[in-house]
Amino acid sequence: MRVLIVEDDPRIAGDIKTALNAAGYSCDSCADGEDAWFRGDTEPYDLIVLDLGLPSMDGLQVLKRWRAAGRRMPVLILTARGAWPERVEGIDAGADDYLTKPFRMEELLARVRALIRRSSGLADALIEAGGLILDTRQMRIFADGTPVPVSPLEYRLISYLMHHKGRVVPAGEIIEHLYGDDDSRDANALEALIMRLRKKLGAGAIETRRGFGYLIADDAS
Ligand code: CA
Repeated sequence: MRVLIVEDDPRIAGDIKTALNAAGYSCDSCADGEDAWFRGDTEPYDLIVLDLGLPSMDGLQVLKRWRAAGRRMPVLILTARGAWPERVEGIDAGADDYLTKPFRMEELLARVRALIRRSSGLADALIEAGGLILDTRQMRIFADGTPVPVSPLEYRLISYLMHHKGRVVPAGEIIEHLYGDDDSRDANALEALIMRLRKKLGAGAIETRRGFGYLIADDAS
């Protein structure tokens, strides 16, 4: 899962990035409204954390332009304390949720998890498919009831596929959602990562559809 953090206070931006990285998300950040608008319009983020007070273009304007352009990623806005008209305007402009500064990082993480789940059509913090259970709160994966140790990158991959269970996900899409701006992107590395996960989770856990992509079958469908 890949998240864009838009925040011009470097300390807050840094704290959010550290927390989201530790929670298994790949993060890009920017501190400027124009830059944020461009990135959100051109990159496939799974969620955007958007501060409203920004240089060059304010956050509300950025959000309105994304929604006007048909961009539907979940957006969590950060607002100043007591600024309720700003929150109302933000929600009306297409924000999915908000947090008032200062906030607890645990609350931000819980809201991020919930928004990403909902945008995948899932309600529960536990996602089950193909004999696997993903616990999005504990960041753990279970195969046939047994916890399986995975690296942060392996977790990101399995988490993305579990959130999109029942759908064949193209390799290019996985790569876009797995890596941030600073990471190198490589299809061979993805293939190797899938092989490692199959060894850990069982050979049948992730199916390859040659020429189309990868799939974790949804038991329910
Ligand atoms: Ca600000």
